[in-house]
Amino acid sequence: MRRPIIFGNWKMNKTRKEAKKFVKEIELILTGEEKAEYGVAVPFTLIDKAVDKAKNLLISAQNCHFEDSGAYTGEVSVPMLKDVKVTHCVIGHSERRMMFADTDETVNKKAKKLIENGIVPIVCIGESEAQYDNGETESVIRSQLNGSLAGLDPKAVENIVVAYEPIWAIGTGKSATKEIAQDCCAIVRDEIKNMFGEDAANKVRIQYGGSVKPDNIAEYMACEDIDGALIGGASLQVDSFTAIINATK
Ligand code: 13P
Repeated sequence: MRRPIIFGNWKMNKTRKEAKKFVKEIELILTGEEKAEYGVAVPFTLIDKAVDKAKNLLISAQNCHFEDSGAYTGEVSVPMLKDVKVTHCVIGHSERRMMFADTDETVNKKAKKLIENGIVPIVCIGESEAQYDNGETESVIRSQLNGSLAGLDPKAVENIVVAYEPIWAIGTGKSATKEIAQDCCAIVRDEIKNMFGEDAANKVRIQYGGSVKPDNIAEYMACEDIDGALIGGASLQVDSFTAIINATK
């Protein structure tokens, strides 16, 4: 059985004071015995504070560089993330692919570096609205996985998380139907099987992301190939993130 995994992605939001308050309040409703894992992906400046306050809530970074150190102004390396004790790191989010030049190749290097350092990559993929309209969803999913996960050890793939986030559903309120989300997550699992075999495909956890809210999370979680969610807007307020946790406990 795959343990569900639900993460908020705060994107570029919150001060240290706000993060501390949020984590403290969410900790009040978590025991660590839930059937799902819960976490938040926070900006670099909040990692220390969030890790300090979190007991059962997992803390993730939102990006990393693939080199250990060097002349990369403004970047943060994986050993630096390990130093501040994050357990997970989101890579290849569509916002980074679109605005900050992330590619399958750089995502692949980041995934390898994270695995080498014992941090779980949450690898984001997903098609644009134009690709969806052109019927290219399946080929985009398969090709992004081939590029982003190339050369990984099948045993390591068992422990990574893949987030399928159709770009047209992100921040739009236009969530994918549960049928579309399930079909696409099944394609992800099938491609992982092609690339890494049955065990990796059965164990890898796949999240759906894109306008997930307290009132639609349960229907995604009921789908066979959806093991969790990556949530933007609805993870920013304690009330809505609490409602999401309660709907999946
Ligand atoms: P929204 O939940 O705001 O659509 O964002 C999804 C997302 O990009 C999570 O990474």
